[in-house]
Amino acid sequence: MAEPITPALFLSKVDRSYQQSGGSLDILKKADFAIWPGELVALVAPSGTGKSTLLHVAGLLEHPDAGEVFIGGTATSKLDDAARTRIRRTEIGFVYQFHHLLPEFSAQENVVMPQLIRGLGKAEARTRAAELLGFLGLGERLKHRPGELSGGEQQRVAIARAVANAPRLLLADEPTGNLDPGTSKHVFLTLTSLVRASGLAALIATHNLELAGQMDRRVTIKGGQVMNLD
Ligand code: ADP
Ligand code: MG
Repeated sequence: MAEPITPALFLSKVDRSYQQSGGSLDILKKADFAIWPGELVALVAPSGTGKSTLLHVAGLLEHPDAGEVFIGGTATSKLDDAARTRIRRTEIGFVYQFHHLLPEFSAQENVVMPQLIRGLGKAEARTRAAELLGFLGLGERLKHRPGELSGGEQQRVAIARAVANAPRLLLADEPTGNLDPGTSKHVFLTLTSLVRASGLAALIATHNLELAGQMDRRVTIKGGQVMNLD
């Protein structure tokens, strides 16, 4: 009998509010949401509606006030910080609007680093980094430092770093928001082909409706809920 498929990410009745001087700002209210392995989902919502909050809660960077976040079927709310960090390192990759690469290290070293932190040997980590960067079209840029790369190249290195430990879930917060339209499109296509080739699940916050239109599914945040668009 086939194994039942487990969602890469499952949010169940998640609440998240911020306390402000005027009272409580309720961003997520009993939000339910799942992403399946191999799915590429766009998160499209106006600024201030809670895209980053959703990504932070899904990525175990913030605790929900209520509800449960399952990563690959594992409930995370009652885990201690060490266990949450372990899941974050091994199961989840992040890409931000600004690359946050280490400026003193080469592209390859930036991708090697998270693998060493996870405990992989240096030779193996270097090989994987070179393969990933090659896949992302950066085979000729392994030794370049971030400052010697274009914005689009920097962002592709950040994508390679995010998937260096072969996570099951990739979370990206407006990853092409800082790039010109042509570069955005190229970075996005590279990201898409990587997701397709690796079978990971990806949730990508973007304001770019053209790019969102090419993903498998589009969701938004409305009234604290995650809702399907179109
Ligand atoms: P988006 O990414 O869609 O622009 P965010 O998730 O960053 O939205 O923020 C949603 C709302 O929550 C915004 O109004 C923001 O000001 C507020 N917010 C976010 N983080 C905090 C925080 N740490 N403390 C108080 N308010 C916050
Ligand atoms: Mg945001």
